[in-house]
Formats: sequence, structure tokens, C-alpha cells
Amino acid sequence: MPQVLTAREVEAILSSGQPIPTGAVLTPSARDLVDAKKRAATGAKTAVVVAAPVTVVASAPAAAVPATGAPSIPDYEYKWTPGTDAKTPDEIQRFFHSAPIEELKRRICDMGRRLWLKDYTDGNGGNITIRVGDNLALCTPTLICKGFMQPADMCLTDLDGNQLAGTRVRTSEAKTHYAIMKRQPAAKACVHAHPPHATAFAISNASIPSSLIPEAEVFLGKIGVAKYETPGTPANAEEVGRVGVDHQAVLMQNHGVICWGKDVEDAYWKMENIDAYCRTVGFAASLGTGLHRFGPDKLKDLIALRQKLGMPDPRANMKEAELIDTADFRPGVICQQSAAPAPAETAPDATVEALVGKITEEILRQLGQAK
Ligand SMILES: [Zn+2]
Repeated sequence: MPQVLTAREVEAILSSGQPIPTGAVLTPSARDLVDAKKRAATGAKTAVVVAAPVTVVASAPAAAVPATGAPSIPDYEYKWTPGTDAKTPDEIQRFFHSAPIEELKRRICDMGRRLWLKDYTDGNGGNITIRVGDNLALCTPTLICKGFMQPADMCLTDLDGNQLAGTRVRTSEAKTHYAIMKRQPAAKACVHAHPPHATAFAISNASIPSSLIPEAEVFLGKIGVAKYETPGTPANAEEVGRVGVDHQAVLMQNHGVICWGKDVEDAYWKMENIDAYCRTVGFAASLGTGLHRFGPDKLKDLIALRQKLGMPDPRANMKEAELIDTADFRPGVICQQSAAPAPAETAPDATVEALVGKITEEILRQLGQAK
């Protein structure tokens, strides 16, 4: 399939001094840019390096274009040839500034803006990663508002979190994302945020009920729950990785949500899916009429559909009887204390002690007088 290049990608290639790949398909604006550069270069000392032939298409999305012109679904998944990771500092820099990686950086910024506009992140909250090699990933930097990131803010790391490129320090949560990616090869991108409706479930003792909305079963699957660990710690990465391996949406207790997908938009969609689902369940529960669930036979159909789409679901081999969700979700459920150490025996209150003493004294005095 020919490589389709937009004006931005052509600009990035030319500014890196690389030739435009042979056989590449240029969008009209990309072709205009090349023509303009050629004109500017005429008579100048430097020439635009264009490896012919290139083709112009009427309009082309950033994703793959079908050779036949048949309708298709754009594919934004980043694919690489195993064993070809950039290794030397020069290779890493070239890779980090290559056109496909610059495009992914822009997509991370887009998803960050969406997270912020939806109120899924506040302050510097949330982080985004995309796997771009056997042992390479792009990630957002630490201490940055997700709504206003620039491509130049992005970082490149290995999957142990060691920073390889980028001028800003990587997010401390990157290792949590990579703990999923290391266990689950289909997880090519992760998005972490604190969407309020789903996070409300994460800080409550109510389980998110299932068998309510078909789309949630298909696109979110069974929502995982990772027990609380301090954010950014190896223990947190271990727990989230363990749960995330076969749950695409993971509720992080007392924290937020992490979702993964085949590309960064796919992962972001799941963030929208889980928060919209939790918001709807919350409203429905507040109606006070109880929740109407569809049966396990119908749930089985949806799980099969999810598998057809290539998405994992730990419920795939469960029997209908095992799929019955008995989680009782109502407003006002009793909050339980989780695994806290047993409190020491309550120390006596000095004021109460003094009062009891005084009352006892008074009773004894009156008894004495009565004699
Ligand atoms: Zn967080």
C-alpha cells in the first residue's frame, strides 16, 4: 500500500533533510508545498530532495487509503517491524523526529485536549502513551495540563521508563502504562485520567453493574478493578498491569481510570465510554426504580461480538449461570472500610472520666447523707 503524506508530514521530512519516499502519495496541499519549495529552491543553493515518482490524491486522511478506493475503516494503529528499534543516539533522534512519530505526537496532543475539554483531567492530571517499537514508547511529560500540550513536549522512553528523547521529563505514571503493554501486545496505547463519574465509583464501595447497555459490554468489556496502590509506584504498576492484561478499561481504586486500545484514539474512546456509562448508571439508579438488566444469554451474544472485533474479555469462557451479575447498586449503599489495620482500644476520654468521677462522688455523698 502506498504511503500517503500530508503537507505537515512532507514539511517534517524536508526539514529533517530526508528525501520524500519513492512512490509516496501526496495530498494536494502536500504537492503544493513541494512545488513551493521547488520554486523557492530554484536559483538557491539547496534543492528540495524529492524521490520520484510521487502521486497526488484528491483527498487523503492521515490513515491508510485503500488502493481500490473501496470504503474502509481508517487504521491508526502504529506498526513496526520487530527487531528494528532505533538504538544509537543518532538513530533515536532521527526516529523521534520522523514524520510518522511527529504525527503520533500530534494525535497525543489532540487526545489530551479532548480529555481536558471533557473534564476528565484537572491540573496536570492524566497521561497518555503510545507504543512505537519492541522497547520504545512515546509518552506525555510530567506536570503539564493535557489541554495545552504541543508535539515538542512529548518524550520517548523504553518500556522500563528510561527516557531516550525529548526535552521535558516523562510522566511518572509511564511505567504503569508499560506494565500493561509488556503483558498485553494488543495494548498499543494507554490513556489515564480521572473522569468524575467513573472515579466516583473508584472511591465508592459500589461495583459498576453490568448487563445494562449493550455498547458498554462490546466496547468496554468487563471493567477491571485494580486495588489501591500509591500512584507512580512499582506496586501500582504491578497491580494495574495484572488487571489490565485482559481488561481494556481498569478502574483504579481511589484514583481514576486507565484504558488501552490498538491506537490512542481507541484508548481514548474507552475513557469516554466508561465515564458516560457510569454517569448513566448513576442517573438511572437515582430514579429509584431499580436497574433493568438483560439476561446472561444476551450478554453472551455481546461477549461473542466483542471477541469477533478482536478484543479480549475474561468472561469469554464463562457459562451463562456465571454471567449473572448480582452486584447490588443503589444510591446510599453502605460504605465499607477496606483492609485497614484494626484500631487500638479506644483511649478513655479524660473529660468523660472526670464527669463520671464527679457523679460517683456525688452519689456516694448523698448516700452518706441519707444514712
Ligand atoms: Zn492519576
